[in-house]
Amino acid sequence: MLKNDQLDQWDRENFFHPSTHLAQHARGESPSRVIKTASGVHIEDRDGNKLLDAFAGLYCVNAGYGRREITDAIAAQAQELAYYHSYVGHGTEASITLSKMILDRAPANMSKVYFGLGGSDANETNIKLVWYYNNILGRPEKKKIISRWRGYHGSGIVTGSLTGLELFHKKFDLPIEQVKHTMAPDFFRRDDLSQTEEQFTAACVADLEELIAREGADTIAGFIGEPVLGTGGIVPPPKGYWPAIQAVLKKHDILLIVDEVVTGFGRLGTMFGSDKYGLEADIITIAKGLTSAYAPLSGSIIGERMWKVLEQGTDENGPIGHGWTYSAHPIGAAAGVANLKLIDDLDLVANAGSVGAYLNSSMKEALADHPHVGDVRGEGLLCAVEFVKDKDSRTFFDPADKIGAQVSATMLAQDKVIARAMPQADMLGFAPPFCLSRDEVDTIVAATARAVKTVL
Ligand code: PLP
Repeated sequence: MLKNDQLDQWDRENFFHPSTHLAQHARGESPSRVIKTASGVHIEDRDGNKLLDAFAGLYCVNAGYGRREITDAIAAQAQELAYYHSYVGHGTEASITLSKMILDRAPANMSKVYFGLGGSDANETNIKLVWYYNNILGRPEKKKIISRWRGYHGSGIVTGSLTGLELFHKKFDLPIEQVKHTMAPDFFRRDDLSQTEEQFTAACVADLEELIAREGADTIAGFIGEPVLGTGGIVPPPKGYWPAIQAVLKKHDILLIVDEVVTGFGRLGTMFGSDKYGLEADIITIAKGLTSAYAPLSGSIIGERMWKVLEQGTDENGPIGHGWTYSAHPIGAAAGVANLKLIDDLDLVANAGSVGAYLNSSMKEALADHPHVGDVRGEGLLCAVEFVKDKDSRTFFDPADKIGAQVSATMLAQDKVIARAMPQADMLGFAPPFCLSRDEVDTIVAATARAVKTVL
């Protein structure tokens, strides 16, 4: 086994970490975090510290760590057939079975699944398919995609553009010009504090209508959104938001891409976020919870009306010119089959709903009266705490104070609980595995309350 010093040195010298301050890391100013093993809701680092992972990795290890049912399926698939491609009609039992399992669970009117590797490439696929769709329908000018500020859809060129967080644009020449942003549906952060929730929803809808009018509906192809804003701060939609937004999209013949990378397969206590909010998607993006991150796999679930046009396109133009070497990778597909089966067998979607409700109510009860806690919100096993400098006037801390990061670091140091400091300043996020128990909720809430008291 390598000594810690050696690992630290190799890490600093060789490893380009994503979403990391590169210079500080290379100088050794931020610690190397080497994770060794994990079980249930706990991960263990190289020094034997057992940490309660209240963010399930990057909200992806939904079934929990160390599941033999999934690792055995991966090993069996790797031994039988580690790889074959899925081009020109090839497949494996695992990939075909998984596509059936996904559609059995998906909302009505969904037709086929295209497999990728991660959420970003799935959304890249989606935008290409939307463009293809409009070209086949003979309206090549209908190409722009609307996303929301503070939405997160990946970090590729199109998907980094769709992501409405400045950090993902800065110095990358993003967003590209085909992507337009409309306002974030965050009632707590509304500019006009006198607005009711209904008035705020109406303002979101008006902002979308104005954007469409400004650009011209005949230039707008699609709208993408997460059922609950995730990385932008875990923000459930304000009252009436989705029905009103969908009505606008329908009126202007704009396709709806529902990005369920975080919410898909149970995180909100329903199989999909679309089920919870009555969303009628043309495409649903899935990734993380599809395999509980035991292997990289994503998917685009294509709705019936798009599928018909895609078929027509290939009759007119030949095979669709889009594919990844690892589309429907057998090992990912085997992990997906075992994971979805496990989620059913252990009734984990229902657990996410009931334990999630307990997490949200306990967090509210423990923190709502704190003078620097402005908002505690969530849905299912998603929960966020937002800090404010002054509650009555709802003024925020200077982002440079990094209050969210301070609280998260304090929780880790004091109680070995991992919560995520969200990229939007002063928000702390929770998205634990679905097998979380009520006792573990109590541990998370107590650790949060203690850290908030320590820092603020
Ligand atoms: N879409 C959503 C809603 C996400 O939260 C993420 C990642 O967090 C992505 C897309 C991108 O997925 P990936 O990081 O697997 O490319």
